Amino acid sequence: MISHKMQNLVKNSSVIRAMFEEGNRLAKLYGPENVFDFSIGNPSVTPPEQIRTAITDILNEENPLTVHGYMNNSGYEDVRQTIAEHINHQHGTAFSAQNIVMTCGAAGGLNVILKTLLNPEDEVIVFAPFFSEYTNYVQNFDGKLVIVNTDPETFLPDLTALKAAITNKTKAIILNTPNNPTGVVYPAELLSQMEQVLTEKEQELSTSIYVISDEPYREIVYDGVTVPFILHYFHNGFIGYSYSKSLSLPGERIGYIVVNNDMDDFSDILSALNVATRILGFVNAPSLFQKVIAKTLDASVDVSIYQENRDILYQHLTKLGFECIKPQGAFYLFPKVPDGDDKAFCELAKKYNILLVPGSSFAGKGHFRLSYCVSKEQILRSLPAFEKLAKEIFHS
Ligand code: PLP
Repeated sequence: MISHKMQNLVKNSSVIRAMFEEGNRLAKLYGPENVFDFSIGNPSVTPPEQIRTAITDILNEENPLTVHGYMNNSGYEDVRQTIAEHINHQHGTAFSAQNIVMTCGAAGGLNVILKTLLNPEDEVIVFAPFFSEYTNYVQNFDGKLVIVNTDPETFLPDLTALKAAITNKTKAIILNTPNNPTGVVYPAELLSQMEQVLTEKEQELSTSIYVISDEPYREIVYDGVTVPFILHYFHNGFIGYSYSKSLSLPGERIGYIVVNNDMDDFSDILSALNVATRILGFVNAPSLFQKVIAKTLDASVDVSIYQENRDILYQHLTKLGFECIKPQGAFYLFPKVPDGDDKAFCELAKKYNILLVPGSSFAGKGHFRLSYCVSKEQILRSLPAFEKLAKEIFHS
């Protein structure tokens, strides 16, 4: 008999499974080229060629016992030092290997950080709409998720609501910019104001409030937008970085945590992250891909492909009458559902073989999420189907 906790988790994950099965069913009925699956965030841009070269170079040239062996639970010292120097070069910081813990992607990193920080009932604030896995990650350590709203027109955090939500149980806040599902990038001024709120509250409550910045989309930005570097703003800041999206390597499970230099309890935190990596069963991030990353720090995917997808869909949907913020990053659109019933709308979309995710799955009721990390051909083929969907929803 599986645990009570798992029974609920399995029940709740059936929405995603149902979507996957629906995609297969429609593909069998109508042919895969006539099904427009915009439901998942699996990158569609090929990883840079440097990745393949680095893999073969490492396998051909390095000692297999080192390449495939155990190492410090935080990762290879030289890889962590190389990453720290890369960050220093980009952001003017002063990190070294000790600030970096290699992780199994952002998901692994967030779980390692939450394991390090949370006592049962500790509160973790997230801003709605948010990546729904945060609920599970916080529950893994018996923490309590506290949802704070964003401005409905901009999806930027409401700082008055944030202030009101902080209690002496608040242990952490998760930020995600560029954001899944909205595509917004938090501006520098907002982060400065947020920092003031947190500092005031830390003083008033005599606590430490940690900021966990979940950054799988840091490099996926458009129109020359730059993403402010979170650790310049929050002394109690962690970054959970990932190469899943930035280098199209989600299956390789590789990323890292950065721990800010002047974080409260810095050395205890470093030891705990190291132990958490081991006892959560990761033991260490994949050894080959740690080495690959160290050799390819300047590599990038062609973000202009996503930008073109965004532009085609954004223009088409807004012309059809959908209201939508133009995303500055990540690869999702989060338009409003005309009558607000997001679940019914996504059901209706299936009639036209369009697979979308209801905003409610991200605590963003009244919207739908469309992942545009698909081929341009799929997008172009889907445009008439969106026209039919719009006709039905706006004129019925
Ligand atoms: N955080 C957000 C906001 C995501 O969208 C995702 C994946 O889609 C993750 C974390 C997990 O990323 P990773 O594959 O690096 O674990």
